[in-house]
Amino acid sequence: MIQLYIPLNFLGVLYREIKQSLADMERLFSLLGQNREVADADHAQVLQVHHRNGAEIRFQHVNFSYEEKRQILFDVDFTIAPGTTTAVVGHSGSGKSTLSRLLFRFYDIQSGHISIDGQDVRDVTQASVRAAIGIVPQDTVLFNDTIEYNIAYGKPGASKEEIIAVAKAAYIHDFIESLPDGYDSMVGERGLKLSGGEKQRVAIARTLLKNPSILIFDEATSALDSQAEQLIQAQLKDIARSRTSLVIAHRLSTVVDAQQILVMDKGRIIERGTHHDLLALHGAYTRMWERQQSKKKDQTEEDDDEADE
Ligand code: ADP
Ligand code: MG
Repeated sequence: MIQLYIPLNFLGVLYREIKQSLADMERLFSLLGQNREVADADHAQVLQVHHRNGAEIRFQHVNFSYEEKRQILFDVDFTIAPGTTTAVVGHSGSGKSTLSRLLFRFYDIQSGHISIDGQDVRDVTQASVRAAIGIVPQDTVLFNDTIEYNIAYGKPGASKEEIIAVAKAAYIHDFIESLPDGYDSMVGERGLKLSGGEKQRVAIARTLLKNPSILIFDEATSALDSQAEQLIQAQLKDIARSRTSLVIAHRLSTVVDAQQILVMDKGRIIERGTHHDLLALHGAYTRMWERQQSKKKDQTEEDDDEADE
């Protein structure tokens, strides 16, 4: 009994941990075949999405808790128009990443509706939901395999030409070519360790290959240098074109151009609007913005000091 219990329990922990990481999510499902908590409805249809300019995403009065007694999202309600970008900002733990997990239908909500192009995610197959969404996670997990495999993962059966094209678009091709084994270099835990920025670029290449109509970008928390940040910004703009994007942003510079910004606090949307609208409110967003601006200023002054030396 005990012998049986331990591995199962271990698997449970592992399962939960992997589940936290959206990067490994698709792999997990292919390994286990099925999410234990969420199952396709008997009548589940294949999600139909408009590929031309991305799909519409809708959260209607969503209430959600991972476990009883601790509600995480409260009456979350928003629409992302096809082909537009919505940014989500807020303190750590406010529920931002939970939004992306729910869109993927990792968990079922307690009340409300989540729909993609008018189809409730509970009425369509999980496989078709996951096929429509591409994610560049906060922390990309690379498989212990070649860099080529890690990119090709976005589209099984992709040709070498396609892989090189997306690697170029994600500004990682030159780096790969500089490696002794090029595209055959082993990466991941047991291979070459890539920096956070390099891993994120691999994830961008993978997502470009997948070519989804919905894009989720969970921005890395760690500060990138400003050059790397600008590069990622530019890439993000490229891949967000003609898709519906949900960007979980830590740097407010990312959100300035978004058609809609949601400010989350303790599981609620407390402010919403464009950057301009939100600054006019002189509320939580304005305070965040001012804090980041003054940090940026300090940073620039430090850089200037260094340049003076
Ligand atoms: P954010 O992305 O804004 O930092 P999250 O959406 O990841 O926040 O988490 C929101 C809240 O939900 C946090 O309080 C977190 O501890 C909790 N939470 C996240 N994942 C789980 C889980 N699998 N089980 C229980 N609570 C969780
Ligand atoms: Mg998060």
